[in-house]
Amino acid sequence: MGYYSLNRYLKETFGTKVYKLALNGGMTCPSRDGTLGSRGCIFCSAGGSGDFAAPARNSITEQIEQAKAKVADKIKDGRYIAYFQAYTNTYAPVEYLEKIFTEAVYHKEIVALSVATRPDCLPEDVLELLGRLNQVKPVWVELGLQTVKAESAAYIRRGYDLECFERAVAALKERGISVIVHIILGLPGETKDDMLKTVEYVGRLHVQGVKLQLLHVLKGTDLAEDYNLRLFRTLTMEEYIELLIDCIEHLPRDVVIHRLTGDGPKRLLIAPMWSADKKKVLNAIKQRMEERGCVQGRYCSPIH
Ligand code: SF4
Repeated sequence: MGYYSLNRYLKETFGTKVYKLALNGGMTCPSRDGTLGSRGCIFCSAGGSGDFAAPARNSITEQIEQAKAKVADKIKDGRYIAYFQAYTNTYAPVEYLEKIFTEAVYHKEIVALSVATRPDCLPEDVLELLGRLNQVKPVWVELGLQTVKAESAAYIRRGYDLECFERAVAALKERGISVIVHIILGLPGETKDDMLKTVEYVGRLHVQGVKLQLLHVLKGTDLAEDYNLRLFRTLTMEEYIELLIDCIEHLPRDVVIHRLTGDGPKRLLIAPMWSADKKKVLNAIKQRMEERGCVQGRYCSPIH
């Protein structure tokens, strides 16, 4: 297929298949604990955009072993990425972060550390820690930009501006840390042009990876209230796939595409219900990519 997949990148980098283990550092988020707000981003479920990790009371080593045991039938002699996904995983004193991240990085079967966080939660001491750990094993930092459109950022209550995002990207890149940016496709009121502007902006920053995520409406979120009031509609599968391919064609060829759709918790999903059948969606994406002759970077400048 005509895009740079995460699987290909992992094989090229580590010479073998590598799997993510979702770990729980037990942190919250400034948009939830009252610092910036208490209701979170408008689309974020109570699980903090990551509902699959083990309880935080277990040590990181215990969590790694538990997560490995869950996939033991499928994976023999695996290599793993320690993935801190839910909430804001740098929202804690640096001493605590050093303890949990170091435990993960020095585990013999862990080949990389992946930390999902916000750009406004990366103070100098945390950047220094991540930079140091990056000398031991590759460190990836995932940042949830979602959109560059100011009205959309205000609607979703993202809580930081583009200058803050750009400062964080520059500081991480300066330390050789890989940056992966989350983008949501299908935010209320966004046109195809708006979404392509976001993708092109991220492409210009020369980040290492992108996660393209379909907008999900999950139970218990404020987004669900707006959806129930019929203030917006979600994308059809066909609309999403066309948009997704357009976005890939506007991203530089060397940007790794970490995600092509979403995998929100099914028990919370309200819309779009077609997204629950991930296998069917991925097959449809593959087929449409072939039909369209999808080429990542088709619409980027020649330097890519
Ligand atoms: S920053 Fe992340 S964890 Fe915090 S409310 Fe937004 S999506 Fe949820």
